[in-house]
Amino acid sequence: MTRRKLVVGNWKMHGSRSANAPLLSGILESRPYTCDVAVCPPFPYLSEAAVALASSGLRWGGQDCSVHEQGAYTGEVSARMLAEFGCRYVIVGHSERRALHAESDGLVAEKAKAALAHGVTPIVCVGETLAERESGQTESVVKRQLSAVIHALAHCAGEMVVAYEPVWAIGTGKTATPEQAQEVHAVLRAQLRAATPRADAMTLLYGGSVKPENAKSLFAQADIDGALVGGAALKADDFVAICRAAG
Ligand code: PEP
Repeated sequence: MTRRKLVVGNWKMHGSRSANAPLLSGILESRPYTCDVAVCPPFPYLSEAAVALASSGLRWGGQDCSVHEQGAYTGEVSARMLAEFGCRYVIVGHSERRALHAESDGLVAEKAKAALAHGVTPIVCVGETLAERESGQTESVVKRQLSAVIHALAHCAGEMVVAYEPVWAIGTGKTATPEQAQEVHAVLRAQLRAATPRADAMTLLYGGSVKPENAKSLFAQADIDGALVGGAALKADDFVAICRAAG
């Protein structure tokens, strides 16, 4: 099946009003793209991204959301709020949040559910650490992480985007080889096939030091439908080159 590719920029906690404007206009000026393109800026910059990208065909999203609708949850942002700002996506379960904020598989699954309840597509990140890979646990770890979300979303599981991001490849300059990435993507696709009739239409992203130089070979793999891009999403030229590689 041919699936349209998706490239998502995860800006993490980077950016400033003065840096964002040229980044967004650099991405805009390089339209049209033959893949879907989205950026996920920090929360305070969502409204300016929404204004800049309105009617452009480009999409935007948040980097996290609360499991709660509203209430006394200082510092949290709900999926409803993201929807109000036109977010198409929200990243949930990024390895930095799992590691630095002790987010469990169950919590990530609830966040994905909260997002879908407000019409925001969750980009669910899964991935193993270096120690887990070296001890042969890659498959069991990613399956466990994905299984929690499949379970929580039930008949809506086919609506999520999944991002395989090996923790050892994030921000390290070490990319999984296209074959290593494909191997895990195939495992995830098979797990999704057992859970939803939409599995073959679902978008499975790879993330972890994706650069203009390695994007094409990753995108050539059968089950890699695009990328979640961190560092290279902060430079318009690099991000645009990755989007071009997906086309
Ligand atoms: C990420 O943060 O999702 C990511 C993949 O980062 P990088 O591209 O910098 O490895």
